[in-house]
Amino acid sequence: MNTPPSGTTECVIVINCGSSSLKFAVFPVTGESVLVKGLAERLGSPEAVLKIERDGETISIQIPSATHHDALQAAVGRMSSLNPRGVGHRMVHGGEEFTGSVVIDDNVMAAVERCSSLAPLHNPANLVGVRTARELFPELPQVAVFDTAFHQTLPRKAFLYAIPYSYYEELKVRRYGFHGTSHHFVSLETARLLGKQPEQTSLITMHLGNGGSACAIQNGHSVDSTMGLTPSEGLVMGTRSGDVDPALHQFLQDQTGMRLSEITAMLNSQSGLLGISGLSNDMRTLAEAARNGHERAALAIEVFCYRLAKSVCGLVAALDTIDAFVFTGGIGENSADVRARTAAHLKILGVDLDENRNACHGRNDGGWISSDRSRVPCLVVPTNEELMIARETLRLIY
Ligand code: AMP
Repeated sequence: MNTPPSGTTECVIVINCGSSSLKFAVFPVTGESVLVKGLAERLGSPEAVLKIERDGETISIQIPSATHHDALQAAVGRMSSLNPRGVGHRMVHGGEEFTGSVVIDDNVMAAVERCSSLAPLHNPANLVGVRTARELFPELPQVAVFDTAFHQTLPRKAFLYAIPYSYYEELKVRRYGFHGTSHHFVSLETARLLGKQPEQTSLITMHLGNGGSACAIQNGHSVDSTMGLTPSEGLVMGTRSGDVDPALHQFLQDQTGMRLSEITAMLNSQSGLLGISGLSNDMRTLAEAARNGHERAALAIEVFCYRLAKSVCGLVAALDTIDAFVFTGGIGENSADVRARTAAHLKILGVDLDENRNACHGRNDGGWISSDRSRVPCLVVPTNEELMIARETLRLIY
């Protein structure tokens, strides 16, 4: 590596690129506090906007019709005192090709493209982010960190669907699991809080954001996930149904004349919390509405928590032992009510929350929200996917 210009901070840039958005965060090479972060939205449209947060201040810049390239260039133009040493990219689907993070070269690009049929909305957008960063920083190493990689340790009994085996052999139809970067990060943090080595720690982690998944982690390795071939399987989410009867598509097509693509879109974007409540996909909005007597908002929360607990009970089957249940993500970290309702369904497993610790989100008790009577500890552990990507990037470039 070259010597950095004096007066600059060596850093890594983390990029999470969507089809019309680009989220970024900058971390120092030494230290783990974010230096700058930002989000460019509605790219390609006249309303495109770039927001940058630095030193507690947020600036908003209109960048009409900006491309991903324009947005990243505009952001980098405001980072004059920073000296990037590498770029880490969030990649959604690595299929069976990637069991860990990798330095990106043309072979990696081609392999990610091959996985695009498994994540047609995400992988092509992620690749736009890589191409943009390569254009702007041709001299810097770029690293891909996959949402699926942490789950590549799932055994066959957990990842196979009970359909003809040839679909797995020929088309790689299987369960992959997602949110791996978050589950991995949270498992490392939890091991630290429990005072154990990660490879001696067995957990159920629940990432509950707008998307949601739970993961069984045995001795530091993912052994099952609620998500499957795509991020649609499993838990009830903001707008996604999670598990439904596989015969539902046929039934709806016969009864309503909807096309398969319309049914899939309905299950992905009009279902979940939004679908049941008819009000919102946002847990805060639903909690407020439920307090004010909105019955279907209350019902949506009830279904969300019950289905989560039911999935957690299923995941327990994957473990020999369990050191903790861990909540993370926007809902997992902030909704004492969701945690309490979910824990109430887990009493059979000896789960018992402490009301005060839970109300404070474990912040005064090292993450702990369970009572001293609880047979299994329960914790709230904030996730930080960007930091995990920065760590992985540094690990691979130095
Ligand atoms: P994420 O995708 O991780 O940003 O999480 C988004 C979800 O977290 C949304 O459903 C938010 O309503 C939810 N959330 C954030 N803060 C709270 C809160 N204080 N109480 C309940 N839900 C929250």
